[in-house]
Amino acid sequence: MKIPHLIVGSGLFGSVVAQRLKANNKGVLVIEKRNHLAGNVFTEEIDGIQVHKYGAHIFHTNNSTVWEYLNQFASFNNFRNAPMANYKGRLFNLPFNMNTFYSLWGLSKPEEVKRKIEEQRKEFQGRVPKNLEEQAICLVGRDLYELLIKGYTEKQWGRPCSSLPPFIIKRLPVRLNFDNNYFNARFQGIPLEGYTSMVKNLLSSIDTWTNKDFLKEKDYFRSISEKIIYTGPIDEYFDFCYGPLEYRSLKFETTRIETPNYQGVAVMNFTDRETAYTRIIEHKHFSSVETDFTLISKEYPSRWEKGEEPYYPVNDEKNNLLYQKYLNLAQSEKSVYFGGRLGLYKYLDMDQTVEKALNLASSLLS
Ligand code: FAD
Ligand code: UDP
Repeated sequence: MKIPHLIVGSGLFGSVVAQRLKANNKGVLVIEKRNHLAGNVFTEEIDGIQVHKYGAHIFHTNNSTVWEYLNQFASFNNFRNAPMANYKGRLFNLPFNMNTFYSLWGLSKPEEVKRKIEEQRKEFQGRVPKNLEEQAICLVGRDLYELLIKGYTEKQWGRPCSSLPPFIIKRLPVRLNFDNNYFNARFQGIPLEGYTSMVKNLLSSIDTWTNKDFLKEKDYFRSISEKIIYTGPIDEYFDFCYGPLEYRSLKFETTRIETPNYQGVAVMNFTDRETAYTRIIEHKHFSSVETDFTLISKEYPSRWEKGEEPYYPVNDEKNNLLYQKYLNLAQSEKSVYFGGRLGLYKYLDMDQTVEKALNLASSLLS
């Protein structure tokens, strides 16, 4: 008898689809090429501290269906992200808000800040920003662009802001109030027991095989399954037949430091061009653990090449067109469903990932 649903990848997308199918008495097998479950939300407990191994993950959503769904599998704390930006030792609050503008310009009134930004964006008046640099200056003015955006963004994406698409910066909130809460979302937090525990709960009654790369035995897995839900990279599935899609990769360097509190905040961004890393994450601040040491991770952006971890899709025009070609192939691939951030080649926050997974599961069940 064939496996009714083979799920390739145990990240949030695959795990949610698997849970929904199993809860509706459908046969499911999850395979995962890494040696652990949970994909990029994987957390590992080290000496009592939950370490976010693939970068800081802060859950936030306005979608009550997604929030209530996940709360069946984890209790969330009430962590609020209020990161700091460090420019050559000068500290600023993020996201851009009145605290940031006050530190930079000494202005304490929203109207004064509005006028200052208007003044600085004059050079682009009357036309639509055509790249990230122009978009950023229109949003927050040139001073803030030079200090907090230019260096960070060029490290993060490995190219000049003038050749990056404007939409990247649109994710960054700008506020004329004193609110440091990064995510403007109704529901926020981090699973008290870590994300790995949440994913294990999602998959609790489901067969899972780790260290199993679907693409190494594609013909075999296709022959034993009725339907496949594939959450790996779409271009890799088709053996890169049109060439590889581009990504940015990251490297994490985690260190133990013998002090109870290293930087006083979970996330500190380093916005100058010279510091090679973009952020330092101090993991204990995600859940206020009391220890006399701490664990920090420096996050270094890096070039992506085949074999490296693909983190951020580069959704510029060239890559979006290439993705369309793979999408056309995917649509004619019988009984295979592509999902998740790699299958859809799209940066998805966790809540969007879960929402899309719930939708796919519903359509498979209908
Ligand atoms: P993944 O977690 O990547 O899962 C895919 C899985 O498939 C992986 O485990 C992979 O090993 C496996 N796989 C791939 N190919 C194969 C194969 N051939 N055979 C078997 N298995 C395979 N979102 C937020 O909401 N808040 C945040 O704070 C946040 N922070 C982030 C920080 C970083 C640095 C990054 C890159 C993303 C962040 N996100 C955040 C987004 C979040 O990571 C994603 O929404 C989510 O992890 C996507 O889940 P997924 O299942 O699609 O992908
Ligand atoms: N960004 C920036 N300075 C900062 C933080 C972010 O210029 O201190 C820009 C950068 O271009 C980045 C984008 O805003 O790619 C989105 O950043 P965010 O931290 O919101 O997203 P993440 O990288 O965590 O997915």
